[in-house]
Amino acid sequence: MPRRETTLTEFIIGEQRKAAGATGGFTAALNDIRLACKRIAYQVGKGALAGLHGRAGSRNVQGEEQQKLDVLANEIFLATNEWGGHLAGMASEEMEHPYRIPDAYPRGKYLLLFDPLDGSSNIDVNVSVGSIFSVLACPEGVPGDAERAYLQPGTKQVCAGYAIYGPSTMLVFTFGRGVHGFTLDREIGEFIYTHPDLRVPEDTSEFAINTSNSRFWEPAVKRYVDECMAGRSGPRGKDFNTRWVASLVAEAHRILMRGGVFLYPRDTRENGRAGRLRLLYEANPIGLVIEQAGGRASTGYGAVLEVEPQALHEKTGFVFGARREVERIETYHRDFNERPYDAPLFGARGLFRTAHRG
Ligand code: MN
Ligand code: MN
Repeated sequence: MPRRETTLTEFIIGEQRKAAGATGGFTAALNDIRLACKRIAYQVGKGALAGLHGRAGSRNVQGEEQQKLDVLANEIFLATNEWGGHLAGMASEEMEHPYRIPDAYPRGKYLLLFDPLDGSSNIDVNVSVGSIFSVLACPEGVPGDAERAYLQPGTKQVCAGYAIYGPSTMLVFTFGRGVHGFTLDREIGEFIYTHPDLRVPEDTSEFAINTSNSRFWEPAVKRYVDECMAGRSGPRGKDFNTRWVASLVAEAHRILMRGGVFLYPRDTRENGRAGRLRLLYEANPIGLVIEQAGGRASTGYGAVLEVEPQALHEKTGFVFGARREVERIETYHRDFNERPYDAPLFGARGLFRTAHRG
């Protein structure tokens, strides 16, 4: 007998059997998401051979330059998910308005939101990229192509996750009962259950932030980073390492595998703009995965999953990872962010030693 491995199909069906009243529509929806991710993994894996590197010559609704693979990955997500009858509509980073399911296909009750290719500026340098997805129930009586159907807080997600296209392709997701990781077996074309019950370690000595933005940081963020950088002789009493891949999926995956904290905070550019990451199809799905793994996901000021969205492409500050670190950063925002931050900060060191050491 060959070794018996659990496939994603078996896993999903097993979960469906556990859930009272499950109809299977959701199982089918996840199957299609899985297929879209496999199709994108195939294209990404061909690299320069596919002739798909480089810019598409267009910009998306957020004014970002689209790569050819951004456009292709978006088309793959739409074409793979539109026909199955489980979805009421879709929304994507790459499309200004929600996508209407063509009349030729039946409509379902779920909404699929996605970032088809995250970190796509890394494609040409062969660094990990990914896809991020979030599934919501379409509110009763609201059409699936109406923007307001999608404006639900992250706590309402029924499923969320990402695929990472790295040296291996993995699919990581949650239904709200823990976080499950699968690795694509390219020979048999199926995801295998390799990472049960993923947990974010509570403490860390790694942090990830784009330091080139430091002149725009708010006092709380400056303070947090300075304290980490001060290392063993600073208020934290230990040395930290920095990491920065500039790909949200790759950062989230590293933090899920071995811990750490990620910050893309709100900053003072454009008059305290909200941040850079998109709430509905980046921060919320990654946030649910991280929280289901025992970590914390925050705007800097409070739980990102509780934010009531006002717009489809709304942006947010985003801080996530090891629970205790994120809670510390939230404390700094609440208690110290209004005061101008005056480096060196260690005049306040005594205060931090007593209040926040732990
Ligand atoms: Mn992205
Ligand atoms: Mn993208």
